[in-house]
Amino acid sequence: MSSTAYQDEVIILKVKDWQTADKYAVCFSRAHGKIPFLAYGARYARTTGGRLIQPFALLDMQLYSGKRLDSMKSCELIAMPQQMDIKQMAYASVIAEVTEALTEAHEPQEDIYELLVGAVQILSRNNPRLVALSAICKLLVLTGFAPVYDACVNCAEAAEGDAFFSVVQGGLICEACHGGEELPFSSGAQKLLQELIALDFNDPQPFTVRGGDLMQLEQILYRFIVYQIDKPLKSLSFLAQLGL
Ligand SMILES: [Zn+2]
Repeated sequence: MSSTAYQDEVIILKVKDWQTADKYAVCFSRAHGKIPFLAYGARYARTTGGRLIQPFALLDMQLYSGKRLDSMKSCELIAMPQQMDIKQMAYASVIAEVTEALTEAHEPQEDIYELLVGAVQILSRNNPRLVALSAICKLLVLTGFAPVYDACVNCAEAAEGDAFFSVVQGGLICEACHGGEELPFSSGAQKLLQELIALDFNDPQPFTVRGGDLMQLEQILYRFIVYQIDKPLKSLSFLAQLGL
């Protein structure tokens, strides 16, 4: 049986060495969703295509669909990733890892592709911590994992002022329902969540953020994601190692 070839624009999320000469990578494509693939011979210096397979590179790629895993036929550069310092790279890795964890292979979702391209583009010009958190808020919405933040998940009372957040129940818990297991979820953090979901990556407008609200929202969302995917996020440990 011959395998079918297809072509798509992709952004690389993750690259690993594979066997002696190959690379295993995961990309998100415009029309085919997430694609894990093998690039045979990509670690040889003479293979141009192999050199281009780098995290956050934008490529025009030809692939063969495989039974278990697709493989790259060839690729051309659309754009190399912007120069990133270690902090920007660490936050970009969080976006990549969360995308990989929340999406299924070969389920097309062009708005996720656009989101990833936009996030990586503005990461180097804006606060990478906020861009990453905003991208994650948007990803949760686009993948259908968005937590409930406008009403109590227990009694459906509309959110008013400071509240709590239940990772297990996936949303806001009001003062009256809260039991002691929940995380604090201040009105400021609730507002920040809405602002980050709405942030326009094509024209990001400045807004003020209180450090406490930001930390609270990060804690809520990262714990919520880890609970949903049932495994730790390696990129978060890396951020912690950097002291970020
Ligand atoms: Zn309640």
